[in-house]
Amino acid sequence: MRSNIKLGKIHGIEIGLHYSWFIIAALIVFSLGEHFRQVNPNWGTAQIWIAALVTAVLFFVTLLLHELAHSLVAQHHGLKVTSITLFALGGVSQIQDDATDAKTEFWVAIAGPIASLIIGFGCLAIAFGLGWRYPTDPRTAVTGVLVWLGYINIGLAIFNMIPGFPLDGGRVLRAIIWAITKNADRSTRIAARVGQVVAFLFILDGILQFFSGAGFSGLWIAFIGWFLMDAAKASYDEVGITASLRGIRVSQVMSHDCVTVNRGMSLQEFVNTYLLRAGERCFAVEDEGRFVGLITPRDVGKIPRDRWDKTTVREAMRPLQELHIVTPDTPALAALKLMARNDVNQLPVVANGTLQGIVSRSQLVQLLQVRSELQLPAAYHPALHHSENTEAL
Ligand SMILES: [Zn+2]
Repeated sequence: MRSNIKLGKIHGIEIGLHYSWFIIAALIVFSLGEHFRQVNPNWGTAQIWIAALVTAVLFFVTLLLHELAHSLVAQHHGLKVTSITLFALGGVSQIQDDATDAKTEFWVAIAGPIASLIIGFGCLAIAFGLGWRYPTDPRTAVTGVLVWLGYINIGLAIFNMIPGFPLDGGRVLRAIIWAITKNADRSTRIAARVGQVVAFLFILDGILQFFSGAGFSGLWIAFIGWFLMDAAKASYDEVGITASLRGIRVSQVMSHDCVTVNRGMSLQEFVNTYLLRAGERCFAVEDEGRFVGLITPRDVGKIPRDRWDKTTVREAMRPLQELHIVTPDTPALAALKLMARNDVNQLPVVANGTLQGIVSRSQLVQLLQVRSELQLPAAYHPALHHSENTEAL
């Protein structure tokens, strides 16, 4: 989940919105306006919409606080957090590293729901101080906003504690199983399976509600279920990938068939000599033997065709400073994650300033496919006879 609109940084963590957020924000404002109108027939139109707008904004602030709780606890335990993105179904914290022990996983996961609970009861307490009494409907706009925020945050904490991966409760469950079995992979698999069951129940419940006349809210529940199902399956698959790539280094899976291109060559010449020849996909640009950048068909396509003969490869390439690079010793799994995070399909492998090869997503996926076709157990990692004798290729 990448954010489309950046709002700023808190504690080094980038805060942003995904476009889908606007749909949900509009829905919340309209349904809140409707809710306030029904509960408070004496309110004016302006009062209703201002209250609805303020509540929606505060709601997203509380969502952000929930995510910040996860992120700050993660940072406290030494994990790197890059960003928080708010989207249609809530928020996601982009925590780069996986927790290395069950205890960390537990506290990072439970911090969010705890924050939501505190916020929820805090809002209700303030409303109580202002004269609101459970279970009556609040009389003023301020208590109306506070009571709604109170309930929704308590509801959010409870919903998130449903023990199905990838919900917070699933992570808590995973941490507990991990602590008991001492096996991180198995605990993820179990929590992901439970997550799939929970997701299935959501979908079933949503469909039943839809057919018994609940309309939109039934579909909404089914949609959340479908989203959870997808995420749970992805977590389950990831365990297999992680286990299969464990111990494998980039040097064992990279390809060496990169063509070296002189930086001074014109794009026209580059296209004619290299690009239009089949089979070659990786073009390294060199300057006196040093690797200075990569050039791809995509980079060439950005330059208008009538300027190809006046533009050099160096001007069109992606310079080294802008590339994410790995070394031959980088774990293959880390390379795969780096590609996924930055949405690139290949990474140059560089050692001592020279290009050693290229590692690509499709190569790693192929490797995983071969392993699964051979039905190798995830723990099967023979010493691969590779580096020395294939270097010549
Ligand atoms: Zn959470």
